[in-house]
Amino acid sequence: MLRASFEERISKGSDQYEELKPVKKTNPLNDEAMWKAVVNRDESCDGQFVYAVKTTGVYCRPSCPAKRPNRDNAIFYDTTNGARQAGFRACARCRPDEDLSKAEAVVAQVRRYIEEHLDEKLTLEKLAGVVELSPYYLQRLFKSRCELTPRQYADECRLSALKKRLSAGTQVTEAMYDAGYGSSSRLYERSAQQLGMTPGSYKKKGAGEQINFAFLGSDLGLIVLAATEKGLCFLQFGDSEEELIEALTREFSNATISKDTKALSAWLDALRHYLSKSTTSNDETIEAIDVDLNGTLFQQAVWRYLRQIAPGQTKTYSEVAEAIGYPKAVRAVANACASNRIAIAVPCHRVVRNDGSLGGYRWGLQRKQELLNREKQKYQRT
Ligand SMILES: [Zn+2]
Repeated sequence: MLRASFEERISKGSDQYEELKPVKKTNPLNDEAMWKAVVNRDESCDGQFVYAVKTTGVYCRPSCPAKRPNRDNAIFYDTTNGARQAGFRACARCRPDEDLSKAEAVVAQVRRYIEEHLDEKLTLEKLAGVVELSPYYLQRLFKSRCELTPRQYADECRLSALKKRLSAGTQVTEAMYDAGYGSSSRLYERSAQQLGMTPGSYKKKGAGEQINFAFLGSDLGLIVLAATEKGLCFLQFGDSEEELIEALTREFSNATISKDTKALSAWLDALRHYLSKSTTSNDETIEAIDVDLNGTLFQQAVWRYLRQIAPGQTKTYSEVAEAIGYPKAVRAVANACASNRIAIAVPCHRVVRNDGSLGGYRWGLQRKQELLNREKQKYQRT
């Protein structure tokens, strides 16, 4: 017999197995192609090669978010081993030695575990035990893949389960237990700020209120704005009228909602004016218009404060927390920003992370950046 089958050879023992190992995939890219991948931070090339930087002594994945080196300072290696043997060390940001697919699998496993155990207390230690990693490492890994810590992810899952059940008309207490909240006090503590309203009023969903809405097309996307008699209560970006109407009626399903462009014309004008790129001497600020802030006292404090940040300026989440008298409630401030329902008029886009990076934005980071750029050009006069 010339060739034994794969199984036969495997069964002969580990020596034979050695020679069956697949030939190491050779990197098909030349230097020029690899450099292009680095310039483009091409994720699809991760694992195919690493690049080392002479000036820093570090080697990275092609997709590393760190500042790119000068072409002359980059050396390419097919394997991390090669880079290490040449005396380079692994980058702490992109961690090129980590097996990407393994990391993905671990995070997916933890997410699944969280989703299936919402009614339990999910400590980081417990989750780390499930995947046999250190709590510290799991936290970092999870956050780098999901942008949330495992605990925040669990909170999100519980909240969306709760919202779904409340929308379905389940009693508040019943919905709470279904959503994995152990006791009512915990629900109020944890979710009130994120829900925007305490559960009781969330369930009212605008009962007894008349809400008018109108659309505005803009170069930042389609906008719906809606107002109660007290003021603007909803301003959001979306892809289609259907999607925006659905979001509006979901939030205020018990209100009487009608399209009335005329009733909103003054606000539409203010918004158009704000979004235009031209500068005029007497810019009316959209923050001056009345808003109907429907949320917890804490959220309202955050939202009111946001309206005092001048266009063209930014504050960090910590600065906002400090300004409203809760210096430790940085995360709750971020949550309040994330649950803002009135874009632009409650300018949550003017809050950024302490390191100056954008943080999050409910309607996409690109929009946040664009709004800030525009404001800078228009309002920040030097
Ligand atoms: Zn790196």
